Amino acid sequence: MTDNPVLIAGGGIGGLATALTLNQIGVPCIVFEAVPDMRPLGVGVNLQPNAVRELYDLGITRADLDSVGLPAREWALVGLNGNDIYAEPRGQLAGYEWPQYAVHRGRLHMLLYEKAVERIGPQAVRLGCRVRGYRKNANSEVTALVEHADGRTTEADGALLIGADGIHSAVRAQMHPTQPPIHWGGAIMWRGTTWAKPIRTGASFVGLGTHRQRVVFYPISHPDPSTGLSMINWIAEVTVDNAEGWKQSGWFRPVAIGEFSHHFDGWTWDWLDVPSLLGRADCAFENPMIDRDPIPTWVDGPVALLGDAAHAMYPTGSNGASQAIVDARVLGAAMIEHGGTAAALAAYDARLCGPISRLVLRNRGAGPFGLLNIVDERCGGTFDNIDDVIPPEERTQFMAGYKAAAGFAIETLNKAPPTIPAGARVHHPHTT
Ligand SMILES: Cc1cc2nc3c(=O)[nH]c(=O)nc-3n(C[C@H](O)[C@H](O)[C@H](O)COP(=O)(O)OP(=O)(O)OC[C@H]3O[C@@H](n4cnc5c(N)ncnc54)[C@H](O)[C@@H]3O)c2cc1C
Repeated sequence: MTDNPVLIAGGGIGGLATALTLNQIGVPCIVFEAVPDMRPLGVGVNLQPNAVRELYDLGITRADLDSVGLPAREWALVGLNGNDIYAEPRGQLAGYEWPQYAVHRGRLHMLLYEKAVERIGPQAVRLGCRVRGYRKNANSEVTALVEHADGRTTEADGALLIGADGIHSAVRAQMHPTQPPIHWGGAIMWRGTTWAKPIRTGASFVGLGTHRQRVVFYPISHPDPSTGLSMINWIAEVTVDNAEGWKQSGWFRPVAIGEFSHHFDGWTWDWLDVPSLLGRADCAFENPMIDRDPIPTWVDGPVALLGDAAHAMYPTGSNGASQAIVDARVLGAAMIEHGGTAAALAAYDARLCGPISRLVLRNRGAGPFGLLNIVDERCGGTFDNIDDVIPPEERTQFMAGYKAAAGFAIETLNKAPPTIPAGARVHHPHTT
């Protein structure tokens, strides 16, 4: 047995959910985060009911989540003629015991960071510390190689290393040195936020257009009581020929609205004015839709991958952040069973790597937006009555198939026992 902590590379949503989980079950941990200052970066993300359940079990309350987002009420696909293709209630309105939240990614991130520092202490998250790689030791432990913001390099010994260092993961690159480069299917997303009046239910996710050109938008704040305006997250997306690969230098770069808004000229209906929504934005970022080919395992002895490092996926299913949170909890559950040991990592891998790798590939096939592909194939995207193009049963069946694969089938989730029972602790952190 050892007193060494579990080392976590990356203090994003996955790394911080892991730190909070390990702290809850009595396993000491340290997070190494590359950026020197934590700032509320990013725009909108969705937390599916399966992830909200885990956050509640971590003591993140509804009031906490209301301070960074709002409960989603509806998910809708609309054709280019402005007519509904599909709409369904979300969260508790759909029968889940837990809401779905649409949140500001940066604000959620800061909330988790503040909780981690408050509960674990100021030394819990070491900023300006980039994990460059790892060395497995003869005593079954691991050493992380850490590069500091000032250029110094140090080593940190740990019982385990969790690589939660995102899509460009250094831990994954060492674990799978022959992995192919990042995969880009040709879709370019421009993301931003605009203060505007929320439409439909007041908390609706709307995907409008075709599978090759669309806008997605949804509010990520409660309306301001004095103006009635919410922060609306939007994603404007076109698909281009990807034969030459991604030519821009960065993966997430600020852009001027004029660089892309012409793709959406004329996208105006009596209930929505897309050029105006884009034109009044606070900020906009260009971001190719990228993921990584699945790998056969997320584990190398005392080292495991988690979150985007394990399974970066297209955002079509709105489940990247949710899955990172669920990963952290499944890892915690495995440690309750096996201690903070490599056996726990193997159990975590056995439970998630196969099904979530299949989900990555399923999202590549357009995820729930696949309905837009079907409409496009059958009628070129224009229709008078959607029932003549895809009967209601076929639409419902299509969506049910996706939800089951993504782990948010309503009955299954409502009936599932907590991933980590209340009060469960790992008594001897590094022995089984
Ligand atoms: C700046 C930023 C903005 C984002 N904005 C959006 C958004 O608007 N919408 C959306 O859907 N998704 C966004 N994402 C992605 C989304 O947060 C993730 O898909 C999801 O939350 C899974 O989280 P993760 O913790 O696995 O990865 P990430 O959120 O990517 O977190 C990884 C963390 O690890 C750190 N890191 C990277 N390499 C190292 C290293 N070698 N050593 C130590 N630390 C390292 C990074 O700085 C980051 O904090 C964003 C991610 C980032 C980093």
